[in-house]
Amino acid sequence: MRLLLVEDDQPLASALRQALVGENYAIDVVEDGAAADHLLSTQSYDLVILDLGLPRVDGQDVLRRLRRRGDKVPVIILTARSGLDHKVTGLDLGADDYMTKPFELTELLARVRANLRRGVNQTEPTISHGRIEYDSIAKRVFVDNKELSLRAKELGLLEVLLRSVGRVLSKQQLAQHLYSFDEYSSDNAIEIYIHRLRKQLPQDSFHLRTVRGIGYLLEPPE
Ligand code: CA
Repeated sequence: MRLLLVEDDQPLASALRQALVGENYAIDVVEDGAAADHLLSTQSYDLVILDLGLPRVDGQDVLRRLRRRGDKVPVIILTARSGLDHKVTGLDLGADDYMTKPFELTELLARVRANLRRGVNQTEPTISHGRIEYDSIAKRVFVDNKELSLRAKELGLLEVLLRSVGRVLSKQQLAQHLYSFDEYSSDNAIEIYIHRLRKQLPQDSFHLRTVRGIGYLLEPPE
C-alpha cells in the first residue's frame, strides 16, 4: 500500500515516514501544497495524510482540487487547526478522517489501517480468500491456519491483489501500490514476486490470471 504524506514540519515528517515504513507501507513525502497537488494529479495512492497549514497551497485547497477531480482516495487530515469550524470544513470538503496535533502515533496508525480498509469496502482487518487468510494488521498470511513466510514486498503485493479481486491490474499499477519514489522498481521485479506468490500459494485459492498485454487478475476463490 502506497501512502502520500503532506507535511511541512520536517522532524515530524521524517518520524512519521519512519513509522510508516516500519509498517511496510511505501511512502512519499512532500512538504508543500503545490507539490502535493501535482503528485495527486499524476500518481495513484492508497491513502493520503494531509496537513492543512502548508506553504504555497493550503491543505484545504489540495483536498478541494482532489475531490473535484473525482478522486476518492481516503484522506486523513492531520493538523494543528483544532477548532470545530476547521473540522467541519475539512470533513465537508471530503476528508475521511480528522486528527489534531499533538497526536498519538499508535492512534494515527490505527486510523490509517481503518481508512485503508474502508477505501476498499473491507471493514474486517483479516481478508479471507479461499484457504488463504491475510491479517492486514500483523501483516501475516496463513493457508489452512499455517503461516507462510513471505518477504515484505511479496506480502505487499498479495495485499494489493486481495483488495482488488476481479479487477485487472497492470504491472505499472502494481508497482505504484508497492514502491515509493525512493525505491527502485522494475517490471521484472514484479514478475519475480508474482512467480513466488504463485509457487507458494495453493492454486485452488490463488487463481491469478495473466491478462496478456494488460496485467494480472486475481479471480474469486473457487
Ligand atoms: Ca504545517
